[in-house]
Amino acid sequence: MKKISLVTGGGSGIGRATSIKLSTRENHVIVADIDEEGAAETVSRIKAAGGDASATKADVSDELSVAALMQTVAKAGRIDTLVNCAGILQNGSRVEDMDLAEHDRIWNVNYRGTYLCCRAFGPVMAEYGVGSIVNIGSIAGFEMFPLPAYSPSKAAIHQLTKVLAGDLGPRGVRVNAVAPGFVMTEALKARVEAGERDTSVMEEQKTLRRIVEPDEIADAILFLCSNAARAITGATLPVDNGWLAGLAYNSYAGNKKN
Ligand code: NAP
Repeated sequence: MKKISLVTGGGSGIGRATSIKLSTRENHVIVADIDEEGAAETVSRIKAAGGDASATKADVSDELSVAALMQTVAKAGRIDTLVNCAGILQNGSRVEDMDLAEHDRIWNVNYRGTYLCCRAFGPVMAEYGVGSIVNIGSIAGFEMFPLPAYSPSKAAIHQLTKVLAGDLGPRGVRVNAVAPGFVMTEALKARVEAGERDTSVMEEQKTLRRIVEPDEIADAILFLCSNAARAITGATLPVDNGWLAGLAYNSYAGNKKN
């Protein structure tokens, strides 16, 4: 029997890469996005490759929209996997310069959106006694960036992942997160093109000296969803080409041998 997977933010970037990979593993993928055209494009790519998927418009920050998404998913009969990829990035800012409306929008999509979807679909999975949720955190949820709304929203997602793991684990549902480093998605490309980010600095900081590809995040997500990760819950896995691991190493003030 095919598994039913829901990917929010599946119309672009990490969500699209994840939807496409899930569709190659005997999944019907429900691709949900506020960008209807993006979701439809993901579905047409999946179908062109012989996979099974459907697109739906959803705003994860809106409780009514998430309730409508529940009805759409209920028509599929059940849900085995939820991947919360819907999210928005932020440009660097001082705390005092951060526009409060933008601050709230970032929290509403990134944190509240993840919370609402987990709150809606976690108990449905728990009813069946099986399921897996993967949230998208960030290296910015672990370390200090000039992102006064984005970084704390991602740190909160890491903590929410643990809370949900404790809550849903006894009912058979695993909840994990990935914490991507810089990933060359449409969202990041737009910032690079606008002169907001410098790719050479991003590459330089990473232990493996390159920027992560969306497919590489999708691979980690698929692992966490799979039976191979059956003993893993409450974890946040950095997928960052060694950015976090290299922080202290790169700040060493003495001479290096290489
Ligand atoms: P992306 O290419 O922009 O994809 C995100 C998708 O989510 C877009 O289609 C976006 O639509 C959609 N979306 C935005 N608000 C939504 C809402 N309220 N409801 C439903 N869908 C919504 O971005 P990405 O880089 O793949 O980011 C995916 C996740 O990874 C985010 O949580 C991001 O914070 C995280 N992440 C990214 C990076 C990176 O370097 N790219 C690093 C660490 C973490 P619109 O295009 O219309 O906004």
